[in-house]
Parts: sequence; structure tokens; C-alpha cells
Amino acid sequence: MEQGFSLKLLKKLAAEPDYTDVSLTAAERVRALAKMGCCVEINEDIAPRRYFRSGVEMERMAAVYLEEGSLENAYVLYTKLITLFVEKLPGHRDYQQCSSIPEKQLIMKKLQEVAFPRKEELKRRLQEKYSRQHIEYLRAQVGEGQNQEVVVDGCGQQLQRLSLLDEDRKHLSQLDKDRQCLQLEEEKQRVAALRRLQIESEQFRYFEDQLKRQEMANKKGEEAGLKVETKVPEVIDGSCLSQQSIRGGMQRQGADLNRNRPPAAFSQSAASLAGVHSPRVEGLRRVVIPRDLTYRFLLLADSNTTRGIETCGVLCGRLTHDEFLLTHVVIPKQSSGPDFCDMENVEELFSFQDQQKLLTLGWIHTHPTQTAFLSSVDLHTHCSYQLMLPEAIAIVCAPKHNDTGVFRLTGPGMSEVSACRLKGFHPHSKEPPLFTVCKHVVLRAVKLNLLDLR
Ligand SMILES: [Zn+2]
Ligand SMILES: [Zn+2]
Repeated sequence: MEQGFSLKLLKKLAAEPDYTDVSLTAAERVRALAKMGCCVEINEDIAPRRYFRSGVEMERMAAVYLEEGSLENAYVLYTKLITLFVEKLPGHRDYQQCSSIPEKQLIMKKLQEVAFPRKEELKRRLQEKYSRQHIEYLRAQVGEGQNQEVVVDGCGQQLQRLSLLDEDRKHLSQLDKDRQCLQLEEEKQRVAALRRLQIESEQFRYFEDQLKRQEMANKKGEEAGLKVETKVPEVIDGSCLSQQSIRGGMQRQGADLNRNRPPAAFSQSAASLAGVHSPRVEGLRRVVIPRDLTYRFLLLADSNTTRGIETCGVLCGRLTHDEFLLTHVVIPKQSSGPDFCDMENVEELFSFQDQQKLLTLGWIHTHPTQTAFLSSVDLHTHCSYQLMLPEAIAIVCAPKHNDTGVFRLTGPGMSEVSACRLKGFHPHSKEPPLFTVCKHVVLRAVKLNLLDLR
């Protein structure tokens, strides 16, 4: 019994603290979130400019979370922003060369004026929220039964609850009277601490309620909007974006869809903030794709396609209620051939994105003669998108084969490709699969804007 009991404790100690666990103290939960915000890795092969562009988008996302009252997501993102630009990026081998990067000044200003103060403010609000939840949890526990005892540490601040087994109870009854007196004193302190926290928390309940009400109002507004737009049921799976399903309406050609596709892999690592808004898929936020995207992109690409030349575009959109909504496809100036497509004059793209406050959600390109898959060059291209945003997608249209795939790199794919120094077409390992069909995408009848900058 004694052994089983300590094993339980050990297991709890060994596990990563979970910020949703109300049995943890407020400080522990905030610490768990801060730790997620420090999980930032940089890749030396990605130019610093790309990180600064990503920083601009991270700040945009954090502002959305804050506005929607998603304190945890906002806190983690502001912490990430600070970790990236204060701690990690200055160590990049090319950092000295980036004094002229236009986004650098902007990021430094945002850090100072927005990220730092908001992070501190959010930390305070989270601590208050969690303290309140912890008190409620303790109160529920105390009222639960007599088979339990609340143990208070010396300062009377950190409250911890332990279930006592029968043996422990017998042991307890043998404790001398002095010890019992001490416990009585500690109990008094505990009640005092509880009362203090309770008073503090009342002050913030009002504020929280206001936020919740606003969130509900937003949600209602959005649902009303969706009801008008969504006439067909949602389809979740990147393998169904084929032309057949677009031309043939809702008739899905099930057996055909995953042909030549590697099986979808489960990502184990992604730190999930699920439950805040819409559910996540394998730890990823959903990406909503307009139903007519492929069809309309292929119309614009048609003249290239008939000449056997690739066309590429950038997928842009917004974050709302913890999911990405793809709203724009920007087709920048480009030079392309039968098996490559290089974007040119990206400044034009960046200024449009900044003007519209858009996020980069991935890219789309055609394979005029080949099937829908990611070539070795495509893997490298996509790797840099996915390093910036784990939800980034690569849409590949193969009009000749009447097929379209929505892909992302698997865990092994990210490890191998991000470490690969080879350029041009070159072999990668075949097993396990380096890319997979996306499971976190949703087709919806929403408005799409196409911008052709060629
Ligand atoms: Zn390709
Ligand atoms: Zn490679």
C-alpha cells in the first residue's frame, strides 16, 4: 500500500505539469504555459528575414487571441515572440547581416510596446483566473468527505491535497497531541489564505464575465454568418480536394482519393491548447479552405498548364476562434518551368499581406503533367513554411490526372528535410513517409479572393 501510494506521487511528479490541471497552483499552471512559450527552435538555413516576417504574423495572431479572450493562447504566443527575437534569433549565424531588414525595426518596436507589457498583463490575469479555479477545486475537495486531509505548507500559501489510505489514517491517529495542535494552527492559516484569495478573485469575476459575454456574442455572430454560407456539409480531409469532387459537387470518389498517397501520420509532439475554441486535429488548428479554391486557381493557371509549365501561389488568411480561414490566394510574379516555380518580387506580396493583415497559411502549385505529390524540391519549400507555422499546407494540383492533394510534412519528414543541405532534385529516404495528406483541413463554401500579381 505504502509503495503504491508513493508510486502514484512519483508519477505525478515525473509528468509534465499540465496547465489545464486545476489541482495545480496558479503559479505552476502559468509556469507550464510559459514553458510552452519557450519552445522555440530556429534553423540556421532559414534566413533571418523569414523569421521577422513570421514575427509580424505571430503578433497578428496573438492580438486576435487576446481580442477573443483566449488568454492562454495569447500568453504563449507573446512569450514565443519574445523568446524568438530576444533569445534565439540573435544567435543566428546571419543575424549581423540583417540590420537593413525592414521588419526588424517593426518587430523591436512591437516587442517593447506590445509583447512585453501584454505578456506581463496576461500573466497577472492568468494567475488570478487560476487562483480562483484552484480555490473552487479545493473547496469541492474539502466538502467531499472526511477520508481526506488538507496539508498546508509552512507559509500557508501553497495548498496541496492528499488522499489518505486506511493505513495512513491509522498512522495519523497515533500522532502525538502537539502535532495535532500544529495542524490546527495550520488549518487556521489555510482558511485565512483561502479567504484572502477569495476576496481578490471576486474583483476579477466581473471582468471575466464581460469577456465571456463578448466571446458568446462573437460566436453567435459567426454562426449566423456560417449558416448562410454553408449549404453543403463540411468535408474534413485534404485528400478530397480533387477536381472530381469540385466538378461533381458532393459526389466523392472515395476509393480513388488516397491513391498513391502515404498514410496520414499522427503528430505526437504538438503542444495542444485544445478546448479554448474549436477542437484541434492531431494538435493542429484547423484550416478552412474555400470549396472553389482549386477550380479557380486552375483557371488562372490554365495557360501555363497547357504549355506544360508550373504555376504557384501563396495561401493567405486569418485566424479566428482558433482556426485559420483561408481567404486569399496571391499569385506573385514568378519564373517557372515543367518542374519548378520560383516566386519573384516578394516585396509586393509582403506589402499586400501587411496591408490586409494576412497570415501565410501555405502555398499552392500545379504539376502540369505529373501526379499530385511533393517532390524533393517541394519538400524543402514546404519545410520552411511548416517551420514558421505547423498548420501550413501545400496544395498540389495535377490537372492531367484530375487530382489535387493537400499535404504537410510528417515528424520524420521535418527532421530529415530541415537537416538536409542538398539543393535541386535529390533522393530522400522512403520510409517512414516524409509527407502526408492533411487531416486538419476543412472544405467550406466561403468567399475566396484571388490576386494575380503577374
Ligand atoms: Zn511540385
Ligand atoms: Zn533534401
